Amino acid sequence: MAPDALAAWVRERGEPAYRARQIGDAVWKDGGVTGSAEIRTLPASVRDALATAFRFDTVGDTEIRYADDGQTEKALHRLDDGALIESVLMHYPATGTSRERHTLCISSQAGCAVGCPFCATGELGFGRDLEVAEILDQARHAARRLAADGRRVTNIVFMGMGEPLLNLDRVLAAVEALNDPHRFGIGARRITVSTSGVVPGIRRLTALGPQFTLAVSLHAARDALRDVLVPLNRRWPVADVVSAARDHARATGRRISYEYTMIGGVNDTPADAIALADLLRGDHAHVNLIPMNPVAHTPWQASPMATIEAFAATLRTAGIGTTIRRNRGQEVGAACGQLAAERTGEPPAPAVARRRERLETESAAALRGERSHEPVPVGVGE
Ligand code: SAH
Ligand code: SF4
Repeated sequence: MAPDALAAWVRERGEPAYRARQIGDAVWKDGGVTGSAEIRTLPASVRDALATAFRFDTVGDTEIRYADDGQTEKALHRLDDGALIESVLMHYPATGTSRERHTLCISSQAGCAVGCPFCATGELGFGRDLEVAEILDQARHAARRLAADGRRVTNIVFMGMGEPLLNLDRVLAAVEALNDPHRFGIGARRITVSTSGVVPGIRRLTALGPQFTLAVSLHAARDALRDVLVPLNRRWPVADVVSAARDHARATGRRISYEYTMIGGVNDTPADAIALADLLRGDHAHVNLIPMNPVAHTPWQASPMATIEAFAATLRTAGIGTTIRRNRGQEVGAACGQLAAERTGEPPAPAVARRRERLETESAAALRGERSHEPVPVGVGE
């Protein structure tokens, strides 16, 4: 609920204005309360009225799995209608140059319509958009867990389930609340929104001005291959995506981060590295190379580390800042969508075999440079 709406509710009830601040503090401080009964600063009559009028939490039942010696916490949240979404909290110890970080990865949709074949969420398909509260309550949940040890969320990335720019109005409202010093209170530069390349969405963000960090999931520099890896490419091809990202960088003065999932024998060849270097040469850009997290139902594996290092070297020689990312939480299925997929149940074996075969055929055709004739995914409107 936006602060002015809360203030209006308090006013309509004839309560003093400072009640709105008391309620706001209770909702946001250290992740906040999950019911009005916990707000001891309020008289019982106000607590009762709040309980009748509002809900204080939308992520009910939550299961947490720990990995990487407790450095990664993967949460599976069940929403009211039974939809399952995931958030991941990653702890990074302080180094010589940086303070300790607690980065939270959150979901913007249940499932995803884009359907990238290496992504467990993509395989689930689209469920529904998340409400603003459902996005924010993932952050409040993590903040409560951290507050127990006097720690707080330092960074938020929209890299969980869903395509944030296909739920853009709600994602923007959530970012506003996350950034608001009177609500979640996290710096705009510490919030990253990741997109698979929704060009009109990127352009809308550019028009809004610098707000947060934009990350673009590229995974291929050539259209034939990107058509297969990011089916959205059939609507917005790679040149349009990079051009929108470039305009965003120019308008905001902020560097663009490109994500590139390294899939062995698919998008990791020397020719791919050269194509990517040519595409981004001279841009204010940074590339993150991410070894593919193994997910079920693909014929693919992560590229070998030596291949990833050679790929990175080609980019760096072209003057493009490049980081090789470490995978987190593999033993608990940390590739987003994996836990939800587990709960949804295993598809029939013949369907899985057909999917694998189709991916083999499509990627082989793409490697020969043939464009895909598959239609644009359903639900990805303009
Ligand atoms: N839909 C948005 C944000 C959520 S996905 C997007 O695609 O950018 C967040 C990131 O996780 C993306 O860069 C995506 O490509 C990556 N990802 C998905 N599945 C993966 C896997 N199996 N291994 C490695 N990265 C993966
Ligand atoms: Fe959707 Fe992102 Fe997964 Fe692609 S990688 S299916 S866009 S969540």
